Amino acid sequence: MKWRRFVSLPILAVLILMEMVYYGTVFIFLDDWIGLQSSAGWLNAVIFTSLASLTLFSFLVCVLTDPGGVPSGYFPDIENNDGSDQESRKAEALQKRCDKCSAYKPPRAHHCRVCRRCVLKMDHHCTWINNCVGQRNYKAFFLLVVYATISSFHSLVLIIGCGIQKDWEFARTTRLKTFYILGPSMLKWLCPTALSHVKDGTSFPTVRDTL
Ligand SMILES: [Zn+2]
Ligand SMILES: [Zn+2]
Repeated sequence: MKWRRFVSLPILAVLILMEMVYYGTVFIFLDDWIGLQSSAGWLNAVIFTSLASLTLFSFLVCVLTDPGGVPSGYFPDIENNDGSDQESRKAEALQKRCDKCSAYKPPRAHHCRVCRRCVLKMDHHCTWINNCVGQRNYKAFFLLVVYATISSFHSLVLIIGCGIQKDWEFARTTRLKTFYILGPSMLKWLCPTALSHVKDGTSFPTVRDTL
C-alpha cells in the first residue's frame, strides 16, 4: 500500500517544515513587509503559493509513484548482432543477476536494500520521500528540487526584505542603540586580544553607585 509510505518521521518533518515556511513567508514576513492587501503583496503571495503548491505536488508524486520495478520474466538481450562475441555477452548478462531477487536486472537497475527489490534506473533511496528515486519518479524528484530551490530563494528574499525594513525602522526609532550598548569602540569586540574595554571582573557597578 503506497499510502503507507507517509507513515515515516522524515516525511512528517518535511510536511511540517513546508507548512511552517509557507505560513511564515506569506502571513508573517510578506504581510509585514509589503502587506497582503497591496497589489505587490498579493502578487507575491500568488507566485509563492503557486511555487509552494508545485513543490508539494512534486513531493507527493515522488512519495506515491512506484519508482519502477524490473518486469517479471525479464531476460537480458544477448542476441544482438553487433559483431561482439556472443559468449562474452552471455557471461556479462549472467553477472547482472540479483542474488536477492533471484532475477536478472537490466543495465542501471540496482537492488535497494530498504525497498527490498531491484529498481529500474535507480538513482538512490531517499529517506525524505521514503521511496527510491528511479525511472518513473526521477522527473518528479528533479522538479521537486527545482521548485523547492526557487521557492526557498523567493522566501529568502521576502524574509531579508522584511528584516532590512525592520532594521531601518529600528535604527530610526532607537537612534542606533546598538552603538551605545557595545560602546564607541565596537570593533574591539571582534579582536580576541583587545581587552581594554572589558571590565576586570573584580567590581560590578550597581544602581547604588550612581545614587
Ligand atoms: Zn534485487
Ligand atoms: Zn529503495
